[in-house]
Amino acid sequence: MTSTDYRGRFAPSPTGPLHFGSLVAALASFLEARCHQGQWLVRIEDLDPLREPPEATGQILRSLDAHGLMADDAVRFQSRRHEAYQAAIDRLLETGHAYRCVCSRKELAQHHGRHPHQCRDGHIAAGDQPFAVRFALTDETSHWQDQLLGPQVQTVAAELDDPVILRKEGFYAYQLAVVVDDIDQGITHVVRGSDLLDMTAQQQQVYRALGATPPHWLHIPVILNDQGQKLSKQTHAPALDDTRPSDNLVQALAALGQEPPTELTRESVEQVLAWGIRHWRRAAAHLTAR
Ligand code: GLU
Repeated sequence: MTSTDYRGRFAPSPTGPLHFGSLVAALASFLEARCHQGQWLVRIEDLDPLREPPEATGQILRSLDAHGLMADDAVRFQSRRHEAYQAAIDRLLETGHAYRCVCSRKELAQHHGRHPHQCRDGHIAAGDQPFAVRFALTDETSHWQDQLLGPQVQTVAAELDDPVILRKEGFYAYQLAVVVDDIDQGITHVVRGSDLLDMTAQQQQVYRALGATPPHWLHIPVILNDQGQKLSKQTHAPALDDTRPSDNLVQALAALGQEPPTELTRESVEQVLAWGIRHWRRAAAHLTAR
């Protein structure tokens, strides 16, 4: 039985195959959803073909399968959602929550993040010259509760922090698409790596501008390599070995502070996951935070 009161998701950007850090994030969101009798969805955030090797999506989905992490609904692909993102941008432009911006990074840096072209005042019309669209943040000190890290206080600076939501090259950006899809898919709980913690207050403003209530958030510790860098494609994190899924899952449980018995590595992925669900202690994940 599943509860419609809890809908979680794992939303990787397919910049490379699944690595250990992304398995830990996937597993944490899966276990949270299962422990709440909730639904767990998978969404491929394939927004940027220039950074995404074409084989990565298939590799990620096969890897999730090999680790028994089966989504409760069809996998969503952001590359098929452009109309929805454009509709959201049109709405944000109409309501004054977004603006066209022709500034280059260099110009913005020279003006300490301020827009020399007065983009924010709506001076740039479509068709004038290549433009990006930025979300117009409001100055705010946001107080919110992370379900693992506790009370959070984040400062959002209007103009200086305004995120690009449509790039000059025509690609829809993460800050918009993640919120549009989380709203559309009825996501109630976001579990993800704490590298995205700083984005949260900005994303809360995007939710509100689109007339939606932000979900609950839970940020898990980021997995670091021996040099103290976040495991990622940029730091050459190795792909998971899909022939050893139980080993990988047991290590991921350990990284989440769950203290799985070593003999669990001899069990099937289903049994490892069942152990993970039975013993899931969210607070223990905190202890591994670095
Ligand atoms: N697609 C994002 C990433 O892979 C994660 C999105 C999210 O969980 O908010 O970093």
